[in-house]
Amino acid sequence: MTLFTRDLTVCVLSSGSAGNATYIGDGRAGVIVDCGLATKQILGRMAAAGLGSAPIDAVLLTHEHKDHVGAAAVLARALARRGAPVPFFCTAGTLAGLDPRCCPDGVEVIEAGSPFRVKHFIVEPMPVPHDVRDPVAYRVIVGDAPVAVVTDLGKPTALVARALRDCRAVVLEFNHDEEMLLAGPYPFPLKQRIRGNHGHLSNRQAAQLLADGLGPRLDHLVLAHLSEENNTPQKAMSTARTVLDDAGVLGRVQLQAAKQYSQLAPLTVSSRVW
Ligand SMILES: [Zn+2]
Ligand SMILES: [Zn+2]
Repeated sequence: MTLFTRDLTVCVLSSGSAGNATYIGDGRAGVIVDCGLATKQILGRMAAAGLGSAPIDAVLLTHEHKDHVGAAAVLARALARRGAPVPFFCTAGTLAGLDPRCCPDGVEVIEAGSPFRVKHFIVEPMPVPHDVRDPVAYRVIVGDAPVAVVTDLGKPTALVARALRDCRAVVLEFNHDEEMLLAGPYPFPLKQRIRGNHGHLSNRQAAQLLADGLGPRLDHLVLAHLSEENNTPQKAMSTARTVLDDAGVLGRVQLQAAKQYSQLAPLTVSSRVW
């Protein structure tokens, strides 16, 4: 068995209710999780992060909300023009819920709980509670390095916590501060939707999920899908820091908050591949 190490790059290109996209690749293969901002911005931010010629072999959609799929049709055409068509993967429920104007050609239907391959990557879609038909979060495994992108869930679940435990990098929703949401300008029904079991994770709920899912191999934690109205990066970071501190890993785990209007610097995880 040949064993060698390879650097896996994770780059959060955009995160929040105005658009989500994350690139995961190792130089030989790559995927984009969600494409909720303009194609030009997705590809422009990849280029700005030094990933302009990084491979894109699939686009993984979590669910049909516009901030996750808005660019799908245009991105599919742009990627096809670069070479071969790139498959888009989503659940049957997400496909049924997609606005036809966003629907790309060549969608491959997947099932939550059934892993599939994209080149040498193993992709594990897992069910999450959110107010659409069949939403998922993803774990992408390259060699011995799982990476997870988990946003848009209304409450922590044991299944997601378990999925985080051996991850090397986790992009995790810290959507809102509960007091800010309640005191803020949103209409009451929207507040109820966000707070509900099929809405979004508050900082407190995300902290609980993080505490349950924190494992010994975690190197990078990115706080994601922060609300611009109902949260601050400082509040989310301080909540996450408390969890890491309580677990004695504050110095070891690289912590940052994702941004809406620019990409983060790419994270590197070293994976052993055989
Ligand atoms: Zn969203
Ligand atoms: Zn959503």
